[in-house]
Amino acid sequence: MSTIGHFINGSLVHDSERTQPVYNPATGQESARVALASRDTVERAIAAAEAAFPGWRETPPLKRAQVMFRYKQLLEQNAGELCGLITDQHGKVLDDAMGELVRGIEVVEYACGAPELLTGEHSKGVGSGIDAWSEFQPLGVVAGITPFNFPVMVPMWMFPMALICGNCFILKPSERDPAPALRIAGLLHEAGLPEGVFNLVNGDRETVDVLLEDSRVKAVSFVGSTPVAEHIYRTGTAAGKRVQALGGAKNHAVVMPDADLENAANALMGAAYGSCGERCMAISVVVCVGDATADALVGKLAEKLAALRVGPGRQAGCEMGPLVTAAHLEKVRGYVDAGIAEGAELVVDGRQLRVEGHEQGFFLGGCLFDRVSPEMSIYREEIFGPVLCVVRVEELGQAMALIDRHEFGNGTCIFTRDGEAARYFSDHIEVGMVGVNVPLPVPVASHSFGGWKRSLFGDLSAYGPDAVRFYTRRKTITQRWPSSSLREGTVFAFPTL
Ligand code: NAD
Repeated sequence: MSTIGHFINGSLVHDSERTQPVYNPATGQESARVALASRDTVERAIAAAEAAFPGWRETPPLKRAQVMFRYKQLLEQNAGELCGLITDQHGKVLDDAMGELVRGIEVVEYACGAPELLTGEHSKGVGSGIDAWSEFQPLGVVAGITPFNFPVMVPMWMFPMALICGNCFILKPSERDPAPALRIAGLLHEAGLPEGVFNLVNGDRETVDVLLEDSRVKAVSFVGSTPVAEHIYRTGTAAGKRVQALGGAKNHAVVMPDADLENAANALMGAAYGSCGERCMAISVVVCVGDATADALVGKLAEKLAALRVGPGRQAGCEMGPLVTAAHLEKVRGYVDAGIAEGAELVVDGRQLRVEGHEQGFFLGGCLFDRVSPEMSIYREEIFGPVLCVVRVEELGQAMALIDRHEFGNGTCIFTRDGEAARYFSDHIEVGMVGVNVPLPVPVASHSFGGWKRSLFGDLSAYGPDAVRFYTRRKTITQRWPSSSLREGTVFAFPTL
């Protein structure tokens, strides 16, 4: 059985003292093992990145961008293989894998604008004969730690922007589906990125601890669950690093009585059950305004769920694949049991689903709960599975108060035909990313991605303009070239221009 190793200084590296299994979620079989990097291996990666930094820092942004242009082409040429790798280790259906790859490539395209993104700010004549400018310098060695649910896209939220800013990067992907990230590392090398500028170490908490402790690592970008995000943020900032840590979510969709219900139901099916609910922007709660809205919507969703095609991600026509691991399947099933025990009404029960020929796969059918209330664990906690909860309220104000009280504030959306309600909602809601009749308002690459409240620790969001600020430090230079006509005597007062 193959062991998935690391990528350091332009070469594949194996250190197999500690390994753990990687599964194909559709069959439930172990398909490979992944190496868990030792302290020595992580330190080799940091040393390689540190050694590559002076050369990469001096490489003009235009040349850095040219690597990204070639990288984009290589990602597109190898899209079929990459999507297969994603599906075989994550489980999501091939179309969905392609969606994640395309959204990742969009960040690479944005990063191709490096010369424009790094132009800096210039003021001529701030004093007599004095000019001033601010430029954005790279930090040095920076690290990214990423979750299992987007094994290609989330790493690509980070490293294209970090690299074009002149940094050297170390990626620690999820140990549950590590193969796609290793493949995109190889493509970066093929695109002409100098050795050591990008390195990848596979591993777990022990591996991450080395990255957090080492003073050569200047900044850490993290995406994953909230408890780990908080731990990374506290530990990293205490060690003097710049940290952005994106955490979990519980995204609510509000459905108003005037909404086009057929449209809303179609949109909610994809947003709740796409990728088996394993998306940080998945809709996991629908807040229906009025009982009539709820009755009609629940009826439509139940009908559509009965027709949902669940099966292995490589099978044509499948709309939803399995969950990522057996442990995660058990956890999600546990929430369905808890919801029943807590008194919610299970309208559609996916627990009995059997996928013929894939009996050992980690499959769970789509589940739908109605009459969920805010004190229930299925409402409060992130389930990260194909479980949608319907909460009933009487008016928009109650829906908004519910959303504002929730600990997470990643994404939300409203379905309505009323412009005034939509504008009020998007203006006042305590959530970082808002959709109006758009169920998954994942910002495009030229806007940054980030939630509010306990969905993001740190001040700057991922990709887009915030990434340039996160991966650089501002330096401001004030310059005068003395000439005989401007010669001055000594001044002891604080200088004014
Ligand atoms: P996770 O927190 O278990 O793991 C994320 C990463 O952290 C992995 O690389 C893992 O190896 C590492 N890790 C795990 N425990 C650690 C520890 N104790 N110390 C140091 N490192 C540790 O998350 P996951 O299960 O892989 O991903 C799902 C979670 O990610 C969900 O909560 C989801 O909402 C969240 N997510 C958030 C966003 C966002 O943008 N806000 C995007 C995608 C996923």
